[in-house]
Amino acid sequence: MECPFCDPAILQKQCFFDRGRFLALYSIKPFLPGHSLVVPKRHITSLNDASTDEKAELVDFINDTASIALRYAGAHDYDLNMQQGEVAGREVEHAHIHIIPRREDDVLSRARIDWFIKFVERGKYRDEYSTNLTDQQVSEIVKEMKTVAGMSHNKSGLDKNYKPI
Ligand SMILES: [Zn+2]
Repeated sequence: MECPFCDPAILQKQCFFDRGRFLALYSIKPFLPGHSLVVPKRHITSLNDASTDEKAELVDFINDTASIALRYAGAHDYDLNMQQGEVAGREVEHAHIHIIPRREDDVLSRARIDWFIKFVERGKYRDEYSTNLTDQQVSEIVKEMKTVAGMSHNKSGLDKNYKPI
């Protein structure tokens, strides 16, 4: 199967923040508003395969992506998680980390205990908890998040010269 996180068309559509060795993508099936993905540009299937440079950049990239997602969602708190491997609920093999802004009034706050189970098994609960966004909706949200990221139109989103490694 083709890797969606190595597909330039998908990255172009979903990317709102591009720096160094990582991209931040907006989820096309957000669990909650602001649900973002931190994705290494290189196709690796585990953080064990991350290079020294990737490891050195990762924490700052997560922090900065979370700041953008929180500002977009009007939230102060967020959930950070990664499903490493199929048993853990991974849906895309290319390593990626989820950042999910949480608000006091979000739908999951009524189900604090089981929300994570529903997240990991979100394929089953998609109708209940996730929204499948249209291309138009993704495009509008990504545009707004690029603005939040404070990037100029020329420099926003995916670097035009970027090719998957
Ligand atoms: Zn990939």
